[in-house]
Amino acid sequence: MPAATKNVAVFGSTGSIGTNALDVIAASNGRLRVAALSAHGRLPRLSEQACQFKPRWVVATDEKPARHFDWADLPPSTELVFGADALARVAAADDVDVVLAAIVGSAGLRSTWAALDAGKTVALANKETLVMAGDLMTRLARERGATILPVDSEHSAIFQSLKAGQHDEVRRIVLTASGGPFRERSLDQLKQVTVDDALLHPTWEMGPKITVDSATMMNKALEIIESRWLFDLSVEQISVAIHPQSVVHSFVEFVDGSVIAQLGPPDMKLPIQYALEYPHRQPGIADRLDWSQRWRLEFEPADIDRCPALALGYECARAGGTTGAVVNAANEASVQAFLEGELHFTEIVPACRSVLEAHNFESEPTLEQLEKLDRWARGEVTRWACA
Ligand code: NAD
Ligand code: MG
Repeated sequence: MPAATKNVAVFGSTGSIGTNALDVIAASNGRLRVAALSAHGRLPRLSEQACQFKPRWVVATDEKPARHFDWADLPPSTELVFGADALARVAAADDVDVVLAAIVGSAGLRSTWAALDAGKTVALANKETLVMAGDLMTRLARERGATILPVDSEHSAIFQSLKAGQHDEVRRIVLTASGGPFRERSLDQLKQVTVDDALLHPTWEMGPKITVDSATMMNKALEIIESRWLFDLSVEQISVAIHPQSVVHSFVEFVDGSVIAQLGPPDMKLPIQYALEYPHRQPGIADRLDWSQRWRLEFEPADIDRCPALALGYECARAGGTTGAVVNAANEASVQAFLEGELHFTEIVPACRSVLEAHNFESEPTLEQLEKLDRWARGEVTRWACA
């Protein structure tokens, strides 16, 4: 049976995931259609995308500059809407089948929530949403019959590998990590890391925030927490292995000892396509492995004692409650401060730990409490950076 056309709302369409997603959609032979586009900045790019894809809606979330921008090129059939609240309305609209959550950071929380609340399928790149509020989000998805499909490459790999067995047959999952650009540097060398150094990733091309997260290993910490919620596993079942080539995107070990992995070149188009076309596989435009070449894959255990970010990730995954939201916000604010030259690279993870320890833990917070803590944690980082 041919797959039905799906209408996709691409939130964060001007970013690294968003533009890859539009390439995937453009090459889908009409199986995927753009229902909505959204961006915060890069408005000329957003306007060009709208000309090409002719969506029903364009959402410009940063209202003030967007109201001064010349939108004359928008197709006549496209409705222009402003502000973050508009995302929630579009996410819930009848003509949207799938929401690709590709906004960076906690700014993506409310639109993901609205999509799940409306019972939609969410192709989730925005891992921060599950880190902040995984318990509430997954509960809401169950209540509303919504589906969360992972876009993060490791989680897509685990999701695909899990199909080889039953949930109670899983011994553990292993998230692979490239180790980032500074894997072999000493602490003294890390103190010299500049913004330009941190923005050069050895295997993946991504937006600035996640590139810095990969360099500090906070990305893997966030992914441990993301896994805990996506796959309903105990924290003891989640391991991390360093794999510098980023070809084995992650693997599942079953109770009989079989290990099932998913492989591919480091190209986000593949996990994006898998989530958007799910449950079908279609010919695609992602890079392919070249089996005529000789290549080597290396793995080493991640040393949690030497990696304070991973230790933080495990701690938050175990404790749950408010910890994920606090560490996520502290990390977002610290990365921002680092990019603006106000914090050293080596201060990012200690800032997160310090804010986590200063917060009042709640085991069953509401979404509003988590948003309040998000603002508080950002303020704490500012104080920390100035101290
Ligand atoms: P990016 O910085 O390239 O793009 C971010 C997008 O979000 C842009 O369209 C921007 O306009 C929009 N945005 C920024 N601030 C916003 C705000 N306040 N309100 C609304 N929209 C806002 O980021 P990216 O690398 O594409 O990452 C997007 C998400 O996907 C992140 O959560 C990241 O962790 C996750 N992810 C990315 C990759 C990757 O390869 N880039 C891989 C796995 C997961
Ligand atoms: Mg990842």
